[in-house]
Amino acid sequence: MPNVQATLTCPLCNAKQTAEIPSDACVPFYKCDKCGKVIKAKDGDCCVFCSYGSEKCPLNS
Ligand SMILES: [Zn+2]
Repeated sequence: MPNVQATLTCPLCNAKQTAEIPSDACVPFYKCDKCGKVIKAKDGDCCVFCSYGSEKCPLNS
């Protein structure tokens, strides 16, 4: 299965970065390349892709 790429938009500085969505795991946080802050998924979202990504994670679609 090919991996899916999504664009994550930092809620703090609005920087966009591309990340790969793992097909078998959740990503509860990521580190913004620009501001260096660790971005956590919103309450109720399983991962940062569901909260801030251009694509939802495959587990939640
Ligand atoms: Zn940022």
